Amino acid sequence: MSEVRVRFAPSPTGYLHIGGLRTALYDYLFAKNKGGKYVLRIEDTDRTRYVEGAIENLIQALEWAGVKHDEGVFIEDGKLVQKGEYGPYIQSERLDIYKKYIEELIEKGHAYYCFCSKERLDKVREEQKAKGLVPKYDGYCRSIDIEEAKKRIEAGEEYTVRLKLPANKEIKFHDAIRGEVTINTKDLDDQVLMKSDGFPTYHFAVVVDDHLMKITHIVRGEEWLPSTPKHVYLYEAFGWEKPEYIHLPTVLNKNKKKLSKRHGDVAVSDFRKKGYLPEALVNYLALVGWSPEDNQEIFSMNELIDKFSFDRVARTGGVFDKGKLNWINGQY
Ligand code: GLU
Repeated sequence: MSEVRVRFAPSPTGYLHIGGLRTALYDYLFAKNKGGKYVLRIEDTDRTRYVEGAIENLIQALEWAGVKHDEGVFIEDGKLVQKGEYGPYIQSERLDIYKKYIEELIEKGHAYYCFCSKERLDKVREEQKAKGLVPKYDGYCRSIDIEEAKKRIEAGEEYTVRLKLPANKEIKFHDAIRGEVTINTKDLDDQVLMKSDGFPTYHFAVVVDDHLMKITHIVRGEEWLPSTPKHVYLYEAFGWEKPEYIHLPTVLNKNKKKLSKRHGDVAVSDFRKKGYLPEALVNYLALVGWSPEDNQEIFSMNELIDKFSFDRVARTGGVFDKGKLNWINGQY
């Protein structure tokens, strides 16, 4: 088997959420357990959500927690540095790579140029909604010939690039927690892959980078599960080997709702400021959704590495219980 390579791929939109730290932790524990590598990649292609200083905050929070990456983006002497043979690891520095692959996809007939204006798209959406349909792109630009599209681009027309999904095809993939997942393309949209500002969307960049960075296991929150069929389709369109998928159940609050800022602390930095020990937070977070074979509750990082496996991650959301965290914090 090839070397296990996992990545944590946060978007620099603010602070590191407790749920994000748990994902990073599971990445780390799994990679170390398998003698593999854990990569930190920054997904900053949505320029409208970019927050100045967020990359530094993410890295500092991960470092404080002791969830150390082997490759990717680091802070050294107060500056961001990138280390590893598959860089750059900040997506906004990889635009020429995405451009090359989007062109390949268009040539292969799996993507197309779209010239629809926002006004037109809004109108189609409203009409579909009025008919009680789930809004999706109506395929207006699907049949534009590539040469014709190139002329329009040369003449200065704005464009995006969309995924050309077959009308009725079952896409299947295996998820380590959910088992077999099947979704029909008729329930999916011709997703925009390249935006008019020349930046890829998350869906395109994530597939290109996970492939080029030789990522073997994709560990992320289950909110990404509905996006995975589009990604799987892209792997197949390029003829690339698919990774293993592990979609983690959401971290919930005591009322079984998504843990959110409105209901108290969710930023790793809040716990740091309040004096929690990083070892205690990590120990506790490991247990939110994963359980060891015995009843052990206090673990060193090395013990966690030793015992961790995805087989013992629960299918239902783990509850973040501050009382339990406080108890564990008191044991250190
Ligand atoms: N950039 C995505 C996020 O912020 C990463 C999702 C993934 O891991 O594929 O959550």
